[in-house]
Amino acid sequence: MREVWGIGKRMWKKDWRRRIWLYDTLIWTVMGYGAEVWGWKERVEVESIHERYIRWIFGLNWRTPGYMVRDEVEREKMRGRASKRAWKFEKKLEEGNGGGIARKCLEEMKERWKRGKIIGKWEQERKSYLEELGVRVEEEEELEVENLESREKAKQKQERMEKIVESKYNRWYKCIRKDGIPGYLKKNWEEERWSRVARFRLGNEIREGLHWEKKENRRCRICEREEETWEHIWEECTRWKKWDGEGWQDVVENLLGEGGEGEEWMKAIEESRQEGGRRGEVMDKRTV
Ligand SMILES: [Zn+2]
Repeated sequence: MREVWGIGKRMWKKDWRRRIWLYDTLIWTVMGYGAEVWGWKERVEVESIHERYIRWIFGLNWRTPGYMVRDEVEREKMRGRASKRAWKFEKKLEEGNGGGIARKCLEEMKERWKRGKIIGKWEQERKSYLEELGVRVEEEEELEVENLESREKAKQKQERMEKIVESKYNRWYKCIRKDGIPGYLKKNWEEERWSRVARFRLGNEIREGLHWEKKENRRCRICEREEETWEHIWEECTRWKKWDGEGWQDVVENLLGEGGEGEEWMKAIEESRQEGGRRGEVMDKRTV
């Protein structure tokens, strides 16, 4: 995978979409092998490789929750694609375009299932999967692949949103997310720019979400005294003229806006952090 990543990084400086495309064409073709059979269940390893790859593209740290990363760049879990493959395979067998033995198995399985008997892991996975999507046994035969797809999509969105709303790692995300690809990712920016905005929006650049860490590891990297929260940064460590006088919650929402509105400010924060202690002294004098 590292090689694939390297190719994408060298070839497409600006284009994150192409890098994702590389995943779909090179990695998913390998990972998705056999999805006709295993596709009825979400596979943790498959999802985690996908999420790791997206984190890589955007320069996000490994702590960034997968559901948030997927939400930001509008990616579905791979289980959606896998189940589609399994479904299509089944249809193909029913239509008689496949091995005779496999078709026979499928027919027998369906018979058993109608009588309420479940045998084997595969059948169990298939049953649970469809049940969780709210597909009734009577509906199954008629279920179109588009219907399966849209049910899966809706379910994933619901799962994501529940987690986003409850996220302690990044409690801002629920206010700044939107459906669809956010504006800053459509601007044909260089990697440095979209990656910066992504890191801030997804909570990588603020320590307030690291609730499991010791206090000294959550300290503000500008003044090195208080806990690094948005409130602290805005109220005590730095100001930006453009938004002077506004409440800090509104400022944070603007700063993290989907169009990349806060980019300059993010840069300024990064610079003050690099300047470290020396800058801290200056800040102290100013706030006193
Ligand atoms: Zn500070």
